[in-house]
Amino acid sequence: MSIEKDHRARQLRLVDTHCHVDLFPDPHRVVHGAETGQIVTVAVTNIPSVFDQLRTIVGQSRFVKVALGFHPELAVDRVKELPLFRAKVGLTRFIGEVGLDYVTGLESARAIQRKVFSSILSDCDSAGDKILTIHSRRAADDVVDAIGQSFRGRFILHWYSGSSRTLRRALANGAHVSVNSAMTQSTRARAMIADVPQDRLLTETDGPFVRIDERPSQPEDVRLSLEWLSTIWRITLEEASDIVYGNFSRLSVPAGAERPSATAT
Ligand code: MN
Repeated sequence: MSIEKDHRARQLRLVDTHCHVDLFPDPHRVVHGAETGQIVTVAVTNIPSVFDQLRTIVGQSRFVKVALGFHPELAVDRVKELPLFRAKVGLTRFIGEVGLDYVTGLESARAIQRKVFSSILSDCDSAGDKILTIHSRRAADDVVDAIGQSFRGRFILHWYSGSSRTLRRALANGAHVSVNSAMTQSTRARAMIADVPQDRLLTETDGPFVRIDERPSQPEDVRLSLEWLSTIWRITLEEASDIVYGNFSRLSVPAGAERPSATAT
């Protein structure tokens, strides 16, 4: 590898819009890795009661953004934390992991999930400047319906696996889509991503849940998603990186701001 190429490789700007930093054995190490690699990382949480603890761990990081979340699979057990979500929502622009998961066949459980998600969307809509990373397994239609056409905020469909038709509907309503390394193994996902406009694509790891060669994926592994996008788009890795980083920068511009910034807090 030439020195010039090596230099350029180090200039790749990486964005991980969905990483469960708090669920790694050593969260400090993941934060340090994101700082050192200058990888913008959205550290999602699964329940409001762990948000403060992760904020303490992340500290004054320039690159790691702590998100306030409420995972749909925990909605039934943790529904009492809904007031806590509302109490904390003013502390961050980043919201996730939230959404719906219809792997459960229990209609009562799905109804509680919808209640939690609807309350969260209402809080975020009132705030007007939130950036949501959203889970929609087997529930894409209800997720897209719940967000609606006039949501005041930005939203990212994380690891989307619903129909193309529903995705088109979501894109018409302003959706972004984030891709992880597990999706790069799927021909169905490839066909779907090829249909998403370049300016709506983002990268994520969903670490530590998504694994790469038996190890948990970490923010720097968004490079695999970028490599995949660069082959789908038939451009260089550097160009793909610029597109995705630019997308995140535009996404995180607060309404009314004039200049893009990737360091929204
Ligand atoms: Mn996740």
